[in-house]
Amino acid sequence: MDVIKNPNKIAGEQSIAALYNDGKVRKRREWRGLKDTMYDFGRWLHIWGILVNVSMGRGFIKGLFRYRWMANYLAVPHMVDKFTVGQRDETLKITHTAIDYVVYEVATIVKGCLRGDRFAGNDKKLSDRTVAVDENAMTAYMMGFPTLFAAQREVPTLFSANLINQYSAVHYIDVAQAFGIPGDVCPMPETEAGVSIEDDLCVIGKCAVQVNTTCDGSMMGNGIMARRLEEDYGIPTFQLAAPIRFKSEDVQKYAAEDIKKAIAFIEDQTGAKWDWKHYFECAKRVNNTTRNRLEWLDINSTPYPQFVGAVFCLYNDTNYMGNCGRNPEFPSIDEKIMKLVQKGYQNKQMMAPEYRHRCVVWGVEPHFVFDMLYWMMLCWGVVPLTDMLSMVIKDQIADEDTPENREQAYYDMAYLVENMIMRNHTHGGYEALLDELWECCDKMNADMVMLWEHIGCKALTGMHGMFEEQARERGIHLVWVSHDLCDPRIYTRQAIRDQFNQYMRTVMREEPLDPSIEVLPDSYAW
Ligand code: SF4
Repeated sequence: MDVIKNPNKIAGEQSIAALYNDGKVRKRREWRGLKDTMYDFGRWLHIWGILVNVSMGRGFIKGLFRYRWMANYLAVPHMVDKFTVGQRDETLKITHTAIDYVVYEVATIVKGCLRGDRFAGNDKKLSDRTVAVDENAMTAYMMGFPTLFAAQREVPTLFSANLINQYSAVHYIDVAQAFGIPGDVCPMPETEAGVSIEDDLCVIGKCAVQVNTTCDGSMMGNGIMARRLEEDYGIPTFQLAAPIRFKSEDVQKYAAEDIKKAIAFIEDQTGAKWDWKHYFECAKRVNNTTRNRLEWLDINSTPYPQFVGAVFCLYNDTNYMGNCGRNPEFPSIDEKIMKLVQKGYQNKQMMAPEYRHRCVVWGVEPHFVFDMLYWMMLCWGVVPLTDMLSMVIKDQIADEDTPENREQAYYDMAYLVENMIMRNHTHGGYEALLDELWECCDKMNADMVMLWEHIGCKALTGMHGMFEEQARERGIHLVWVSHDLCDPRIYTRQAIRDQFNQYMRTVMREEPLDPSIEVLPDSYAW
């Protein structure tokens, strides 16, 4: 592809190398010129404000002493700094608007979980109107329950904890393996299982719903967690089983029926009644999210992509899975981001001195080493246009309250659950994993794919040869980058970057834009 040079001057320091040391945190904050440094500092204070607010919630102190994972949250401001590395002007504001809201959402979950937790806040009223939901699933079946709290207990213990501190999961992985779970299981469900074995999940909820998304590993973890919930804490747990071959027409009736059963189970356990008016309001918001995301992708397919990287992925994760239209605040955040994206595009904002390659990131959870996607731009001028997890749904769901749409709604909720952000490509056969990648490359005008190959994800590794063969036929540069998700002992951050460095030097025969960041001393950092 033609190299695109940044038409705008990059204010402040030109290399991020000076920020790193061998410690857990950076040496200092990034100098981005006066205006952007002040803006960034203001947002940094805002993040501290969110943390202080959580610390004043009921059950916080008890939770801090009971749960090992709680200590990670002190490093949240440092995490946000890693999302904004090298960014200026509109792109800096886009990242902050999105990630700061994600932080706020997670903080709300942590606060709610600790408040209702039997061992911390012990707010029985809240717990009685809570459904403990599965982190690795769309919360579509909660869209018609405005009075209930959907507690995603695993989000603060595994998912966001690992974004904050790369070593947050290793203790729980060891616990799970000491219990007898093999070491080649995906560390994500293995960590969740380890947290449950150690009894380190908040105990909250009148009932629980688990979903078989994403995969067999996840089902293994769910089994262990369900035992803990039902046998030790008397919390009845429903198993929602989304079809694996979800693209086939003949499984949709079954999927819709299962959603009906999940809703009936929640009604039965909590006494709450399904509210169609609220459901369709949520459905409108889901459609709004989909329209906005498709427009952001359109802009990312031009020479001046704006909303990219791990923040794009995480914002979509939060907006679809945890929120699923239930939070009325998301549309205004979407709107703010949209204005910034359009302005950034008009001003031809770029996040590096030049873009040499346009890359689609395929594979699971690239945001577990999330500064990698910003580093690719700054070090090699490779812009990550989108990632597999952000290619979630394309279709609009029924959002008008009519008798026919009430029946359709069960199919729509099933469609959302089946298309949960990770499993909609790791399951569903080669059409979902392979064909959709090439469609995505065409649409995004990509000349490169970074295959973020998770060695414990069998669904993905099984098609290694087919990826190779088809990329060659299409003339797409395919870079394999192996990792082990949330276990940095298997692949350190530098070991991950080195695979990319090696490909760029030996296959592409290119020199880095910024050689001083090819190797970074962050293997032990948060
Ligand atoms: S990364 Fe793969 S193995 Fe791990 S939870 Fe996701 S689909 Fe399952």
